[in-house]
Amino acid sequence: MDDWRYPAEPFRIKSVESITLIPRARREEILKEARYNIFKIKAEHIYIDLLTDSGTGAMSSEQWAALMRGDESYAGARSFYRFEKIIKEITGKKFIIPVHQGRVAENVFFSTVLKKGDYVPNNTHFDTTRANAQHKGGIPVDFPCPEASLDDEIPFKGNIDTQRLEGFIEEKGAEHIPVVFMTVTNNSSGGQPVSMANIKETSEICGKHGIMFFFDCARFAENAYFIKKSEPGFQDKTVKEIAQEMFSYVDGALMSAKKDGLANMGGFIALNDEELARRITELLIVIEGFSTYGGMSGRDIEAVAAGLNEVLNEDYLAYRVGQVEYFGKMIEKAGAPIIKPAGGHAIFIDAGKFLPHIKPDQFPGQALTVELYREGGIRAVEIGSLMFGGYDPNTGEKLTATKELVRLAIPRRVYTASHLDYVADIIAGISKRKDQLRGYKILRQATLLRHFTIELDELSPEEVKVR
Ligand SMILES: *Cc1c(COP(=O)(O)O)cnc(C)c1O
Repeated sequence: MDDWRYPAEPFRIKSVESITLIPRARREEILKEARYNIFKIKAEHIYIDLLTDSGTGAMSSEQWAALMRGDESYAGARSFYRFEKIIKEITGKKFIIPVHQGRVAENVFFSTVLKKGDYVPNNTHFDTTRANAQHKGGIPVDFPCPEASLDDEIPFKGNIDTQRLEGFIEEKGAEHIPVVFMTVTNNSSGGQPVSMANIKETSEICGKHGIMFFFDCARFAENAYFIKKSEPGFQDKTVKEIAQEMFSYVDGALMSAKKDGLANMGGFIALNDEELARRITELLIVIEGFSTYGGMSGRDIEAVAAGLNEVLNEDYLAYRVGQVEYFGKMIEKAGAPIIKPAGGHAIFIDAGKFLPHIKPDQFPGQALTVELYREGGIRAVEIGSLMFGGYDPNTGEKLTATKELVRLAIPRRVYTASHLDYVADIIAGISKRKDQLRGYKILRQATLLRHFTIELDELSPEEVKVR
C-alpha cells in the first residue's frame, strides 16, 4: 500500500522539550568550527538528533512516577527487588546482577570467564563488547550468516552462521571457547533480528560442546517482535512468551538497559550458574557497587524496572518497529538506497551507492552526514571508511570498510511521524542535486577510534578535479 503508515503512536505527549532549527548560515559556521565532525556539534544546535538510540529514549509517566519510589538504601533496597522480579520473569534466570550500563556487564563478565587467548564467537560483536573481550585477553570472532552480506530483503539477517561456528569449535577446541555470544538484535549488522530456530540451533551446538551460550540482549524485545511478525509458528504467541522462549535457550545474558530497558542509563547480567554469579558479584563490588545497586541509584533501578514492564507491550512494539520500517520506505521514496529489510532501531543509507562519484577515500558517508546537518539540522553518523578506515596501530596495515553507510538511529518514543517525514523531505532535496556534493579530506586524526575527534575539510572543486 503506497500510503501505508505505521500504527499511530500508542501514547500521548505530557511533557515536551523544545527543539529549534537554527538559521542555515549559522549551521554552516558551526560545521566549519566543528571541522565537519558531527560529534563536535552541541546538541542544542541540532534539530533532529538521530545519532543513536542508546539512552536517548523518552520515559513514560509510569517511569517518572517510579523515580519517586526509588529506595536509596545501600543494601537490599526495595527498588532492587522490583528490578530483579521483572528480569527473572522475562529471562527465567536465577541470579540478577545490576550494572550501570552494558559495557560494565561486559567488563565484569569477561574478567571472570576469559583466559588470555580464549576465543569469543558472536554473530557480530558490538564495538564495546569486542573491545572488552580484547581488553581481557580474549579474541573476538564474528560469524554473521551468509545472507547478511546480500542485498536481498531476507528476514533474520542477524543470524549466526551455525556451520562456521561449529567448524570453528571443532578446529580450536571447546576448551579455548568459554562462551558463545549472540547479539539480539544484531546491532552492528544493522539491527537485523535473529530467528528462534537459529537461537535454538546455536544453543544445541553449545550444549553439545559444553560451552556457555549468552545473549547480548540490548534489543531483545524488538527481536521478539520480529519473530512474532516473520517466523512461522509464532503468530499466536505473545511477544512476552517469545522473549521468555528466547531466554530459555541461553545460560545467561548481558543487557544495556539504555535500549529496550527504555531507560537513560542502566543494565544487568542474568545467569543461572551460582558459582559464576558469586565470582562476578565479588568483582562488581570492587569496581561498580554493591550487588543490589551495581552503579545505579535506586531511582535509576526503578526506571529500568518500569521500562522492562512496558517494553513488551505489543502496541508499543508494533509502533516502534513500524516506525523504523516506515522511515525506511520514506527515505527510499526520497531517492536514497537503504540496507533492507529495515532493522529494529535504525535505517542505514548506502552512501557508496548514493554518491558513486565520491570515492571511499573521500568519505561519501561523511559527505551525506554533513549535508544532512547543513540542509536540515539533522545529526546522523557515518559508518564507513571514516569510522573503520585508517591504519592498524599495531601492524601499520591500511584498513578499509566493506560499505559506506550513514546510520539514522531512532530514539524510542521521541520523534513523531512528521519529524521523520521532515528528514525524508530533506533527503529528497539532497537527492536532486547529489552530484554536486563533494568529498572530504583529513586535516588531523587520532590512531584509535578516530571518528570521534577527526578534523576534516571539504574538498574544493579544483581538488575534486585533480583527484
Ligand atoms: C549499547 C550496546 C552495548 C553497550 O552498552 P552501553 O550501555 O552503551 O555500555 C553492548 N551491546 C550492544 C548490542 C549494544 O547495543
